[in-house]
Amino acid sequence: MLATPYANNLAYAQQLDREDPLGHFRQRFHLPVQPSGQPYLYFCGNSLGLQPKSTRQAVEQELLDWQNLGVEGHVQAANPWLPYHELLTDKMAAVVGAKPIEVVVMNTLTVNLHLMMVSFYRPKANRFKILIEADAFPSDRYAVSSQVQFHGYDPATAILELRARPGEACIRQEDIDRVIEQHGEHIALIMLGNTNYYTGQFFDMKTITARGHAKGCLVGFDCAHGAGNVPLELHDSGADFAVWCSYKYLNSGPGSLAGCFVHERHAYDRSLPRFTGWWGHNKDTRFGMRDDFDPLPGVEAWQLSNPPILSLAAIRASLDIFAEAGMNQLREKSLLLTGYLEYLVDALPAGKVKIITPRDSAQRGCQLSLQVTGADKTLYQRISAQGVIADWREPDVIRVAPVPLYNTFTEVFQFVEILKNAL
Ligand SMILES: *Cc1c(COP(=O)(O)O)cnc(C)c1O
Repeated sequence: MLATPYANNLAYAQQLDREDPLGHFRQRFHLPVQPSGQPYLYFCGNSLGLQPKSTRQAVEQELLDWQNLGVEGHVQAANPWLPYHELLTDKMAAVVGAKPIEVVVMNTLTVNLHLMMVSFYRPKANRFKILIEADAFPSDRYAVSSQVQFHGYDPATAILELRARPGEACIRQEDIDRVIEQHGEHIALIMLGNTNYYTGQFFDMKTITARGHAKGCLVGFDCAHGAGNVPLELHDSGADFAVWCSYKYLNSGPGSLAGCFVHERHAYDRSLPRFTGWWGHNKDTRFGMRDDFDPLPGVEAWQLSNPPILSLAAIRASLDIFAEAGMNQLREKSLLLTGYLEYLVDALPAGKVKIITPRDSAQRGCQLSLQVTGADKTLYQRISAQGVIADWREPDVIRVAPVPLYNTFTEVFQFVEILKNAL
């Protein structure tokens, strides 16, 4: 592939596409099509990833086995349902940089966040606070507040917020360090969104975890915007837990099941408080319907229910693509693709568009959040009318996520042309 410096013209963008070793993956996805027959410029994979063409077959296989086998499908299906989730574990673990014993696909994201806080938010008289970002995703905030209240504390005093400095959008690492240093002894849990859904900031999990642990805090991350987007290296980060959904960068369909990580160091700890169900119980005696709960080793012990196979099938189809493409290669293209978007946005008329996502590519994923001076939603409506699907956040931010699996350099170029004309 061509190295930077980039060039600001269509022919150059097309050349990058021709030389893109991952370019062929685009054909493996269904691209939403405009009434004109042209595909949309789809930059919303951070909200709902596109459907792999292989998903239908994977789901139909399970429908067919259910049709033909009924309950026997649990053991006789082409992919038996009883252990079906295990088919996903290695590939999901590779996507998030974890060991198989640390990863399971189960429930949905906010459910997993609650389950993790049941185990890893254990407030005590002098240590009951949770540290979150001031602009945390609403569901995370509701989950954290309700956990705090559940334990009898007041969110107003128990929730500590990390805030960017006035005039800045992202939170500086030194400010995170300072807050942990100053308040760490009173913090029971550090729980950050990584990558931040609004600014696209990718926090340094390893540093945050180390500083948190040094102060006796437990540390977890919501990686909804990180999984399939950035190299998470969850195991090496040392984080106690992480949760993420599969319908954003992981292209597994609306509301599809979520991922959950619990660090290996907790894999055999039976003393952890936990909400349990039969799917977390020893597989050999699960159907013996014994009264006493015998937890599986690792994160599988947190499973509650037998999982929806149709959703697992969709995730499996998607993970096969990730395994084929490889997270390292995807990240390599992503850096180039988002770097190109950044380069083109920087060439727009001065003062119009400000990139609030970190300029250091190590501190972001594929998403750039563009703050448009003096804009309102009509700007977004104008670019939508030109075939762009991105995401508008009040008051003045467009989130644009060029996804390396299916977006092209040409699309990035076309998007910025449309934006330029709409400004
Ligand atoms: C997308 C997202 C959610 C959504 O939660 P669900 O339980 O899947 O509906 C929650 N938190 C963050 C940070 C997200 O990005």
